[in-house]
Amino acid sequence: MNLRVPGPTPCPEDVLQAGAQPMINHRGPEFAELIGRIHGRLQQVFHTEREVAILTASGTAAMEAAIVNHLSPGDRMLSISIGVFGDRFAQVAQAYGADVVKPDIPFGTAADPGMVRAALREDSSITAVAVTHNETSTGVTNDLASIARVVREENRLLLVDAISSLGCMPLETDAWECDVVVTASQKGFMVPPGLAFGAQSERAVEASKQARMPRFYLDFERHLTTFRRGQTPWTPAVSLFFSLDVALERMLGEGMPAVYERHAAVAQHARDGVKALGLRLFAADEATASNSVTAVRVPEGVQARELLGMLRTEHQVVLAGGQATLEGQIFRIGHLGHVSTAEIDGVLDALRVVLPKVGFATGA
Ligand code: PMP
Repeated sequence: MNLRVPGPTPCPEDVLQAGAQPMINHRGPEFAELIGRIHGRLQQVFHTEREVAILTASGTAAMEAAIVNHLSPGDRMLSISIGVFGDRFAQVAQAYGADVVKPDIPFGTAADPGMVRAALREDSSITAVAVTHNETSTGVTNDLASIARVVREENRLLLVDAISSLGCMPLETDAWECDVVVTASQKGFMVPPGLAFGAQSERAVEASKQARMPRFYLDFERHLTTFRRGQTPWTPAVSLFFSLDVALERMLGEGMPAVYERHAAVAQHARDGVKALGLRLFAADEATASNSVTAVRVPEGVQARELLGMLRTEHQVVLAGGQATLEGQIFRIGHLGHVSTAEIDGVLDALRVVLPKVGFATGA
């Protein structure tokens, strides 16, 4: 099976095998050693010297942690949403009583840092900004370095959803002065779903002391104080820690610059390949197209469900459809984590055979 959805991503065999090891005491010395080693490696992948909280939860919980640890009900937050996951970040904040301001940005485009600056200058009551680094639903990447610079200059707190970007494309948590960066295990990390991570800047830690949104399981302070004793506050997904340990060793063994270059090359290969078939990218400007997932417009007259069904049953290629309003409009090819151009060639070969069967004459 060529699993090419943008997470969960395929896991290397040694990462899966590591997860099959016998349990250990999560309050014992082996676990303390394991979490210590994982933490040091996570810091390298996050490019941070700050502590990184490790949650047994999916990515959405880490987004929720980013909100509840740093905001109070009634706080005004600017949501820079360019798709379904940006909308989710806003919904989480609203669920806890934040006053969310959300400019309309068309799906398929990236946020303009100048617009972010204007929105912050216009409304001095905004205290925090939430942004999706890479919008998995549209295959568009925001210029996080520029947005982070604006948010810093305008002196607000920046919350970053890096769930489908961290470990796939450059994200300098400390150098870019991102206040909160969250991600999850099932994307760039090549680990099964179930772990999520969050880094906080010094400013974020200060903000969390004033923040009054309710929190318990996701309280970063509990996680970090317990981490300093080599533990997690609640029972961790021990098997996933075993897997993560091996996956991080792989990532750092390859070297983060090489990991980013591989993602960029594989993504370029995917974009060139689909264009050569006569298909169109969903990203309005190819310069903003994501290096972890490629969103492609479903051609006129083609039924997305039929296309994806045939790819799966006849070629064992599993792609993702469009979400929410994009259902039937686009399909998505995931190329993050444990991936090379060979798997993309498999997708392109299958598309070349299936597209004419569903009513589209390919250009190749
Ligand atoms: N944000 C982004 C950018 C994502 O890609 C995803 C998962 N596709 C999420 C948030 C939600 O993460 P999870 O499904 O692990 O809760």
